[in-house]
Amino acid sequence: MLAARLNKIKPSPTIAVTTKAKELRAQGKDIIGLGAGEPDFDTHDNIKKAAIKAIHDGHTKYTAVDGIVELKKAIQAKFKQENNLDFALSEITVGTGGKQVLYNAFMASLNPEDEVIIPAPYWVSYPDMVLLAEGKAVIVDCPKENNFKLTAQQLEANITAKTKWLILNSPSNPTGASYSYTELEEIAAVVRKYQHVNIISDDIYEHITYDNFKFYTIANIAPDLKNRILTVNGVSKAYAMTGWRIGYAAGPSKLIQAMAKIQSQSTSNPTSISQYAALEALNGEQEYLKSRKEAFLKRRNLVLEKFSEIAGLEPYKAEGAFYIFCSCKDLIGRKDPNGNIIKDCTDFASYLLEEALVAVVPGIAFGMKNYFRVSYATSNENLENACVRIKNACARLS
Ligand code: PLP
Repeated sequence: MLAARLNKIKPSPTIAVTTKAKELRAQGKDIIGLGAGEPDFDTHDNIKKAAIKAIHDGHTKYTAVDGIVELKKAIQAKFKQENNLDFALSEITVGTGGKQVLYNAFMASLNPEDEVIIPAPYWVSYPDMVLLAEGKAVIVDCPKENNFKLTAQQLEANITAKTKWLILNSPSNPTGASYSYTELEEIAAVVRKYQHVNIISDDIYEHITYDNFKFYTIANIAPDLKNRILTVNGVSKAYAMTGWRIGYAAGPSKLIQAMAKIQSQSTSNPTSISQYAALEALNGEQEYLKSRKEAFLKRRNLVLEKFSEIAGLEPYKAEGAFYIFCSCKDLIGRKDPNGNIIKDCTDFASYLLEEALVAVVPGIAFGMKNYFRVSYATSNENLENACVRIKNACARLS
């Protein structure tokens, strides 16, 4: 009964970890979940009120497939103010999360065997989405020595006649690594040479950066390439609105219209009420985002400090997002107290879940072995406890 295309893909590993943690919790285990990629903050009150008002105002019907005009105007203004980018409304689309927007983009643009260059470690969904759209994921290893970033040389070496897209995700999930102005300029210089290569810039963590890091998006750095760039963003991470499911993108109108066509035959419009909520998120007060960012920064520093004290772990200090990507290479090959060998980072993550009751995601889910990812979008208390538990669990490996 099932389609062959299912054999090509796997369920999202990050969702799998979260589900497993929930199951164990339901069995009464005191699990600390550091697996999920979502802010623990609540959606701000002004946004909730706008959604309730939308219900009372009767905004409960179908809307334009790819978003209400008011929201598109707010997105247009956001791109102008924050990124100095000018887009017409016909160059903007709204979908059910950044995830659907990206999926639409691949479905609307990939022919069988078209290649998509994906720097690893990558967000778990990119390769599977590409495969679902019958494209070919070209994974390029970007090790810690390169600060987990794609270099211009690596990019050029991986471009073929079939390359359709390069995906850039800065700040990155899972590493938090973020591309500087110069690094983006170097990437743009390569793309400029190959007319058939386009860029998806996934900026969903744009607002979550630290240590005075200045965020740039590549369409802003290389305006001459603007008609070859799709800039993807959303309200999930910046405004703690993961459950509302609103993402958006801006790019060449032909692609944007094609994406809307795909959406029109799948989900139609994103939820009307969520669109009004997102409208308020973008247009309403922004002040509270600063204190949230400060809270994230403190948590990042806390986990970095604690992990640095744990023998066998090597955490990566990144400029953005709310993840720590941490090497556990030195602990691979050790034995747990039951005599089982930790063969790889998947075993290590399972060991932490079962022995330390802490849920983390193995690096291999993001295309890089010998690492694991923790999300520090949780309370300081949870983080402190998790670090103690991880420390004790690591000390029990021999
Ligand atoms: N892009 C990246 C890098 C992400 O980490 C996520 C969510 O985890 C998304 C896109 C999609 O976010 P959403 O669909 O919640 O807008």
